[in-house]
Amino acid sequence: MNANLDQIDLPEIFRKGVICDLHAHSSYAGGTGSLDLTTAVKNMPKKGVQIIGTGDCLYQPWLKILKEKLHDPDENGTFELKEAEQEKDLETKFILQTEIAITAPVGVARKNVHCVFLWPNFNAVDEAIKLLEKFGVKNSMGRPFLTNKNREETSDRITKLLEIDPLVEFFPAHILVPLGIYGPKPAITFMDDFFGEVASRIHAFETGLSADPSICTLIPELDKLTLISNSDAHSAALNRLGRELTSFDLKKVSYEELIDAIRNNRVCYTAEFHPSEGRYFLTGHRGGIRGHKEDEFCVFSPDRAPKNMVCPICGLTMSPGVLQRAIELSKAQGSEREFGTFYGQKRNFYRMVPLVEILAHALGIKNSNTKKVTLFYEIIIGAIGNECKLWTTKLEVLTEILQQLVDEPIARAIIEVRKGNFCFSPPGFDGTYGELIIGETSNYQNIEIIKGAKRASQQLTLDRFSTKD
Ligand SMILES: [Zn+2]
Ligand SMILES: [Zn+2]
Repeated sequence: MNANLDQIDLPEIFRKGVICDLHAHSSYAGGTGSLDLTTAVKNMPKKGVQIIGTGDCLYQPWLKILKEKLHDPDENGTFELKEAEQEKDLETKFILQTEIAITAPVGVARKNVHCVFLWPNFNAVDEAIKLLEKFGVKNSMGRPFLTNKNREETSDRITKLLEIDPLVEFFPAHILVPLGIYGPKPAITFMDDFFGEVASRIHAFETGLSADPSICTLIPELDKLTLISNSDAHSAALNRLGRELTSFDLKKVSYEELIDAIRNNRVCYTAEFHPSEGRYFLTGHRGGIRGHKEDEFCVFSPDRAPKNMVCPICGLTMSPGVLQRAIELSKAQGSEREFGTFYGQKRNFYRMVPLVEILAHALGIKNSNTKKVTLFYEIIIGAIGNECKLWTTKLEVLTEILQQLVDEPIARAIIEVRKGNFCFSPPGFDGTYGELIIGETSNYQNIEIIKGAKRASQQLTLDRFSTKD
């Protein structure tokens, strides 16, 4: 899993670029927590993120707040708070962004694909809202649903949205999870199977939390696109905002320059969640649903999953996790690529764990959103500047700083994660996040955990674990 990745002292390119998180949500889009602008401008500089998407800007109640509170002083498509409490609050720039859930039939089933749209100004946003009304879209939540009859209509309608302004940009979000373009239900092979002709106007894609460049590189169709990473945060909490990000090579901070960088693959690096922390990394069924008892679950690496994909506990079909899906797609697109090798374009990236999660782990606290965690967070960030620097400062220097600042167990936990000496076990699967273990690594190609009693006969008790090499 760590092939081609020396995380200990990253080269100079990792200290360059403008750091962006282009996919977020307001509190209107469901999910937990709430993302308000004031908390965002307080937390973004700590995370090291300079530009963030507003989320949900096509939703009237949120748009009204955005128009009230933000302005674009240089008229270049990057917005800041009108009434900033401190000078520092103006360092964070917003760009107008939304996610649209686009659905259309694929075969006998209906496919739901999330896409991120970026807009150069409020005029373009107002035009898009009018157009969606014309398409009969109901927008009662932050994320509009665009329901289409077929892929021709999908292509036609996205094209109309793009034609509002040459600087409108869209890209498929979290491509390999259930609500992504390559999600398993129903599965497609190439993007134009869903998008039709407008697929040729896609310049970029978002990895999603459960995938990173080492997984996306398996899929030949992605070779020509710009790989980017975003948090998809539904809250301004420190473990959500900027949990994935992209550093773009920009000559100046402006919306147009950012779009040009997306279209021309000018990326310095991305910072990635460890895929095994992501909620859809491996195949399996979690406890508490589909007739599984609370403590019954199963999780499989691609080679270990039952060939018929039937869950050994409940007997229902499992959907493939992201890693398995990427391997399937790779073959479907006619390649013989192997996991662990990089093909096509090579993206610079590092894997990280949100600092508050490392601190909570080191302090033996389950919730990373507590006073004690925040206290240590502020001390560390106060000394090193921002969270991105935790991953890019020379290890020797970082170690020295941490040893003077915090107790040994906390310093050690951070250094171990920085060295790549951590894993998530069990890893993420079927909608649950992976559980952080510091000081150990895991072979994610060798996981087969079945914990529960077989329903059909009730005779055979299954309780098999095999997670190590
Ligand atoms: Zn989203
Ligand atoms: Zn099951």
